[in-house]
Amino acid sequence: MKDIVIVGAGPAGLSAAIYAQRSGKSALVLEATTYGGQIINTPDIANYPGLAHVSGVEFATNLYNQAKELGAEVVFQRVTGVEDQGEIKVVKTPKAEYECRAVILATGAKNRPLGLDNEQSLIGKGISYCATCDGMFFRGKDVAVNGGGNTALEDALFLSNYCNKVTLIHRREGFRGSDESLARLKERENVEFVLNATVDHLEESEGRLSAVAVKDKNSEAVSTIPVAGLFVAIGQTPDNTAFENVASLDPQGYIAAGEDCETGTPGVFTAGDCRTKKVRQLTTAASDGAVAALAACEYIDKL
Ligand code: NAP
Repeated sequence: MKDIVIVGAGPAGLSAAIYAQRSGKSALVLEATTYGGQIINTPDIANYPGLAHVSGVEFATNLYNQAKELGAEVVFQRVTGVEDQGEIKVVKTPKAEYECRAVILATGAKNRPLGLDNEQSLIGKGISYCATCDGMFFRGKDVAVNGGGNTALEDALFLSNYCNKVTLIHRREGFRGSDESLARLKERENVEFVLNATVDHLEESEGRLSAVAVKDKNSEAVSTIPVAGLFVAIGQTPDNTAFENVASLDPQGYIAAGEDCETGTPGVFTAGDCRTKKVRQLTTAASDGAVAALAACEYIDKL
C-alpha cells in the first residue's frame, strides 16, 4: 500500500510526488494519458522563476524524471473514482484498485470546445486544440486561432512561423494574454486580427474544414474566412465529476478548496488547475503540489 496516491501527472501532481517522496512517504501517481499535462503544449516557458526559457516538453520531462528518481511510481491508468473508507482510501481504475492513506487530486483542466455542431467530427480534419502538436500539418496554409488569452496569442505566434496567414479571432477588443506576446504578434506581417467577433459556424468540404464563418458582435454580420485549420484556444474546463463523493465542486466544476489545498474530506487534498483559484499558472500548480503533499504527509503522521 502506498502512502499517497496522486491523481494526475501534470506539474501539480508531479510536484506533489517530489515533495511526498522527499518527506519520506511513498507516492503513486496515476495518469490517464501522458505526463506533463497542458504545459507540454507550450513551446517556450518564459515565466517560471529561475528558468528563463525552457520548452514545455523539456520542463515536464525533467519533472517526471525528478519524481521517478526520487522513487515515485507513475502508472498510466485513468482513475474512475475514489472510495473513502476512513483511514484507508481506495483509488479505482478500470484495471486495478489502489489502497492508500491519502489522496491528492491533481486532475488539471481540459481544453474548452466551442460547442459548434460539426466541431467534434472535424477534430484532426482541420480543428485542433494544440498548435504545438498539430501546427506542422498546416505549413504554408491559411489558419485561424480563436481566443484572447496567452494560449491563443502564443498559438498564433507559433503558427505564424509556418503558416501562410494566421487570422486571430477574438470576441473582444482587449486581450487577457500578455502585452509582450500581443506586441510581438502585431509585428508579424502574416497575422490579421478579427476582433469583436465569434465563430458562428464551421464550413467543411470533402470532410475537412474549409472555412470559419465569423459573426461581428456589433453588426451581427456573418463573414467567411477560408482556412485549412482552426486552433481553438478559448480556455479550459475541469473534469472532476468522478470525485464528487469525496470533494465538493464549485459551480464551474472546480474542486472547492482554498490555498491550503484541503477538500474538507480528511485525507483528500487537491492541487493545481483543477481547484478553485484565481491564478492558474505553472508556478501556482507547482506551489499547490508542495502544499498538498506536505499537508497529506502531516495528515498521515497524525493517523
Ligand atoms: P484564458 O486565459 O482563460 O483565455 C481564454 C480566452 O478565450 C479569453 O480571451 C476568452 O475571452 C476567450 N473565450 C472563452 N470562452 C469563449 C467562447 N465561448 N468563445 C469565444 N472566446 C471565448 O485561457 P488560456 O489562454 O488557455 O490560458 C489559461 C491559463 O494558462 C491562463 O492563466 C494563462 O495565462 C496561462 N497560460 C500561460 C502561458 C505562459 O505563461 N506562457 C501560456 C499559456 C497559458 P474573454 O477574454 O472575453 O473572456
